Amino acid sequence: MNSEIERKIDNVLQEAYDEHERNQQRQINYVLSEIDRTRLDLIDLLTEYAKQDNTISKARIHTLLGELDEIERKIRDYGLKALDTVIDDTASKAIQTGVAALGLLAVVKALSSRRERQLARNVVDSVFGRFKDENIIDLSDRMWTLAGDYNAELRRVLQAGIIQGKSVNQLVADVRKVYEAETWKIETIVITETNTAHRVGIAKAAEASEVVKAIKIIDHPGHKRHDQHECYRLARQNPYGWGDGVYRPQDTYIYSPHPRCRASFRYVLKDEYLTGGES
Ligand SMILES: [Zn+2]
Repeated sequence: MNSEIERKIDNVLQEAYDEHERNQQRQINYVLSEIDRTRLDLIDLLTEYAKQDNTISKARIHTLLGELDEIERKIRDYGLKALDTVIDDTASKAIQTGVAALGLLAVVKALSSRRERQLARNVVDSVFGRFKDENIIDLSDRMWTLAGDYNAELRRVLQAGIIQGKSVNQLVADVRKVYEAETWKIETIVITETNTAHRVGIAKAAEASEVVKAIKIIDHPGHKRHDQHECYRLARQNPYGWGDGVYRPQDTYIYSPHPRCRASFRYVLKDEYLTGGES
């Protein structure tokens, strides 16, 4: 069903998606380490508040807890900045890949680096949900909520610990547990959003090239209850009669089927390019 040229392009896209996933743990670690800087700030703060006996005076609980708002603000700011970095990086690579893959067609010209940058920022805005008409959850809101979760949990363990007369070392250990317990949420955000950024980048490259008729979504099986996932359904629908899982690039509802979705995109070329246009 696929033409020879589409198969070649598919291979490049598949390869790029695999590489994106290989790179993902590094991106998760980067975001976590940026957020973890605030834990180190908090340790400094606890040390400053410590009395000679290495506990914190109950009389100072309220002042100390007041400082947690600043920690929350930093978690939000460092988190959002780090997410912006990894999403932008993923988007740039996906756009370059998409353009390079379509470059196998003689008619497709490389993009200027300015245009490439523009498209990448477009992807970042779209992933952050800055285009309200697109059906993507607002990432900034989620980071605000998450920073609030840290604050509430830190407040709880510090208040209880100080009242119990715990030492600063014990409080530091409690704080570490709070950060560790939130790790999986950050991980989910990074996986979900960079995978989305990869797909959106591939779609933007298609739009820029003007040789792509449609986007085909390929789901990623191999885990429990996969057949209940939205990507499973999308990959098996045939809304335009162009084939299973084939959509218009403008169908933004296929960009982010569900959290941690590992679906990826392929291109369906316009009819006139199916022979490869290499002559
Ligand atoms: Zn999925």
